[in-house]
Amino acid sequence: MTVLEHLGDWQRTHLNGTLRVQHVGQTVTLMGWVGRRRDHATATFVDLRDYSGFVQVVFDSARGDGAVYAKARPLRTEYVIAVRGVVVRRAPDAVNPKMETGEIEVHADELRILNDAQTPPLPLDEEKTSTLAGEDVRLKYRYLDLRRPTMQANLRLRAQVTATIRRWMEAHGFLEVETPFLIRSTPEGARDFIVPSRLHPGNFFALPQSPQLFKQLLMIGGCDRYYQIARCFRDEDLRADRQPEFTQLDVEMSFPQTEVLFDIIEGLMVELAQLRGIQVARPLPRLTYDEAMRRFGSDKPDIRFGMELQDISEVVRPADFPPYQAALAAGGCVKAIVARGKADYSRKTLDDFTDWLRKDHRAGGLGYLKVLSDGVQSPLVKSLGEDVARSVVRTVGAETGDMVFIVAGSQPVVAASLGALRVEIARRERLFDPQHFAFLWVTDFPMFEFDPDERRWYAMHHPFTSPREEDLPLLAAGPEQWGKVRAQAYDLVLNGVEVGGGSIRIHRADVQRQVFDALGFSAEAARQRFGFFIDALTYGTPPHGGIALGLDRLVMLLAGMESIRDVIAFPKTAHATDLMCDAPNVVDPVQLRELRLRLDP
Ligand code: ASP
Repeated sequence: MTVLEHLGDWQRTHLNGTLRVQHVGQTVTLMGWVGRRRDHATATFVDLRDYSGFVQVVFDSARGDGAVYAKARPLRTEYVIAVRGVVVRRAPDAVNPKMETGEIEVHADELRILNDAQTPPLPLDEEKTSTLAGEDVRLKYRYLDLRRPTMQANLRLRAQVTATIRRWMEAHGFLEVETPFLIRSTPEGARDFIVPSRLHPGNFFALPQSPQLFKQLLMIGGCDRYYQIARCFRDEDLRADRQPEFTQLDVEMSFPQTEVLFDIIEGLMVELAQLRGIQVARPLPRLTYDEAMRRFGSDKPDIRFGMELQDISEVVRPADFPPYQAALAAGGCVKAIVARGKADYSRKTLDDFTDWLRKDHRAGGLGYLKVLSDGVQSPLVKSLGEDVARSVVRTVGAETGDMVFIVAGSQPVVAASLGALRVEIARRERLFDPQHFAFLWVTDFPMFEFDPDERRWYAMHHPFTSPREEDLPLLAAGPEQWGKVRAQAYDLVLNGVEVGGGSIRIHRADVQRQVFDALGFSAEAARQRFGFFIDALTYGTPPHGGIALGLDRLVMLLAGMESIRDVIAFPKTAHATDLMCDAPNVVDPVQLRELRLRLDP
């Protein structure tokens, strides 16, 4: 049994990872966790870790009376210790260029063992963790995972991001206001998490999917400019990189011009990128929704690489190829992308692409033309005829060695299929610099989307989004025109990921009524759900609008991580569970009884 000691009056003088040659000769007091340990014949070497990094501590039998060397013998990984010693320059052959503190080491004179530790269930050695420990183990023992320098760096970056946000928003006249967590259920698209009320049995609160209505009410309340780093809750079905609770930078302003809002948000993005030394040029590019869909097949295009979609409907029209004829006759299109230098994709790769696009994007098929030095090669050449095949190649600007991919069908299917394929090819072929931050605004979203299965219109952003002023007559004209109504809605996209979205809101009760109407809410249903809000609109609501940015995703992209779980201290798994606390879980029957709830067996 190791004898544990008290910290006493020892005071830390330096963080371990900050020691450098300039400290040589100084006596330092260090604290932290024992990382790797190596025993030599007459000395023990320990990597001492804290959030700032590691430093090598040497317990040398030749130092003093050798007592400190003997005392270091029981040290194991993750023991917590305090060390007093002298910073010494390492001999040239002992310098470790991989360690930031690799030019020095600390020769210990005194040691206090403050706590022992069980052998950790995951290696905290950086390289090993990514290869050895499964994410489930990391999440179950999150407090250990957090000790890893990468996780520490992520949390610290996140804190820098929120500090920068607060500074920026305050400087631009935004007021930080906290909105409630326990609210009335007003579903915004996803399912609400509901919370039973003990004092009002049979009644429930809901957790906010976003502070949307509250931030609008703050504008009605005269707050003028609001922001909040807000937790949002959505009980959605499982998706790989979603969290049931996540954080948004939520923003709203009165008397808004989108130009002003864009300018404020762009300035903030520049500041945030600078935290990682990344330069972002302003103004950020903008694309309308229509253009984004047409050129990139996506409303969140990754513009770090080209491979744009090209319409070849007119080029293939003369060919007597039934699938293309059918697509065109049905009002669809035929489009192509060019994968430069990829004429050598194997049969298997092409089959895999085809299966995937069929399954995930309802593509009827995937045509290809290999442009080789001796001509165009593909089963399609026979179907289209040599002339048409050649003119496709010419039209899309393909050259020897390139592969042309073609999809025919309805506009949405073609866009989704080629949009996804373009991103997949770019990812495989590393067609972009991961250090490049390509932000853009996507504007002029359609107001409504028709769901053919449910035969009803949905708000593409949310029901509080304002149509463009010049499109209000279309809204009034009835369902035949609703597909043409454009919203004053915009998304902020970074490297193909939607990092934010917002809109100018409806501030007039009559317009709000028309929109609820289009969405199929009867006056009664609208009143029942949003009565308090509809009332508020009638008391002098200023024009207002705003945006919300997904903080987790933004920090993930800034940190260069693959998963938002890596930038959240205590995330849920992809299955929406907390492995560390083992939640969700059953509750005591007494709690249920107090709530007057009985479980359906
Ligand atoms: N509340 C919206 C959302 O969470 C964002 C906004 O319109 O400001 O997506």
